[in-house]
Amino acid sequence: MPISPSPLWHPCTQMYQHQDHPPIEVVRGQGAYLYQADGTPLLDAISSWWVNLHGHSHPKINAAIIDQVQQLEQVMLAGFTHPPIEALAQRLVNLTPAPLTRCFFADSGSAAIEVALKMSLQYWQQSGSPERTTFISLANGYHGETLGSLAVTDIPLFSSQYQPLLIQHLRAPSPDLTLKYTDESDESFLTRQFAAIKALVEVHRDRLCAIIVEPLVQGAAGMKMYPPIYLNWLSSLCREYDIHLILDEIAVGFGRTGTMFAHEQADICPDFLCLSKGLTAGYLPMSCVMTTEDIYQAFYSPDVARGFLHSHSFTGNPLAARAALASLDIFANQHTLNRNQVLIQTMQQELTKLQTHQHIAHVRQTGMIGAFNIVQANGTSYPATSGKGKLVAHYALSHGVLLRPIGDCVYLIPPYCITPDEIRHVLDTARRAIEFAVSQHLPAMMSEAALP
Ligand code: PMP
Repeated sequence: MPISPSPLWHPCTQMYQHQDHPPIEVVRGQGAYLYQADGTPLLDAISSWWVNLHGHSHPKINAAIIDQVQQLEQVMLAGFTHPPIEALAQRLVNLTPAPLTRCFFADSGSAAIEVALKMSLQYWQQSGSPERTTFISLANGYHGETLGSLAVTDIPLFSSQYQPLLIQHLRAPSPDLTLKYTDESDESFLTRQFAAIKALVEVHRDRLCAIIVEPLVQGAAGMKMYPPIYLNWLSSLCREYDIHLILDEIAVGFGRTGTMFAHEQADICPDFLCLSKGLTAGYLPMSCVMTTEDIYQAFYSPDVARGFLHSHSFTGNPLAARAALASLDIFANQHTLNRNQVLIQTMQQELTKLQTHQHIAHVRQTGMIGAFNIVQANGTSYPATSGKGKLVAHYALSHGVLLRPIGDCVYLIPPYCITPDEIRHVLDTARRAIEFAVSQHLPAMMSEAALP
């Protein structure tokens, strides 16, 4: 068996598959495009794992990082501070609901989830409720792959092997609208799903720390979407039973759902707001957990051990903070959210055209995220091992578009510099890719599990 000479072990990858399809080498990025060594462009329709916001190699973000690297590349954030991180914390506080007054920085999305889980648990420990040690997450939820975040993630492919390392929490049914019965209204389906989580809270109320959810879009499970009203109900439930609400906006924050943050659409304020990915416009690893004064005060004490003694070496890195500030400047100066409305409408028009396609079902959109599923001609799903998504990815790549379906879910989350014509091109390529995929039979060996 030929083994690749590269020492690289790629993330979320069965390396065996690279025998036939070596990883694509990208040497340069510009705007919505990535470029291979021979100059071949690839339209990055998924923002490089949903991180890139304003395009690759953006001149303003590049300039901010270059300016910062000449002043200070890194300083530890325990006992020290620096202007970019102070400015970023203030900007985030200004952008989010008034009760969110405090920012704790970490270095990845998963780390932010660990921080939120630990903070919530420690809050209850230090507020006279040490029996509260359990979290509720949603079916299909994804919150990362470190052990704490994986314990609240419901993607068995990623978690089942590691069960001996994972703490058991509680799981409630997903509000994903594709799960409703064909003759059921959205409202009655959501009422049904909400009743289940409410019942869980009622039974376990005394031992609950928090409910954690991805607001509006459950990304890694295959862009499963639900409307803001479910978040309103959830927020009221948390208030009624005095438990925390953790909103994981790691994937959906910074304009992806149409508004700056997804929770704005429900007009609610969580106890913890987790941000990453788009925080630095996809440039550098950084995450932030925002929380309230009430929670902050529960840690504030002359007793060192009551503090939140959690740290990452690169917490609050100045280069990442400058990238984040430059990104927020672009939002403000270029009215990005307003300009995105045109892209959102284009996506809507193009998605509508796909609705009648016999191999496409569950066409859906939340702001700048569009998705649909590949189905058989009779409308039923393909078996999980059909590999249709993989064929779509190969076809799209060979036609210059980077798509990475999750199982049979084809989606786009483009950078905001994409043009309406490019959106049309992406969706047209996706349609042709599906037509190609359904006409092929992939050998079982190549079939792929649903990886994000
Ligand atoms: N939460 C959500 C909703 C995510 O989509 C992701 C990453 N896809 C994470 C958490 C984990 O972030 P990271 O990969 O930076 O650890």
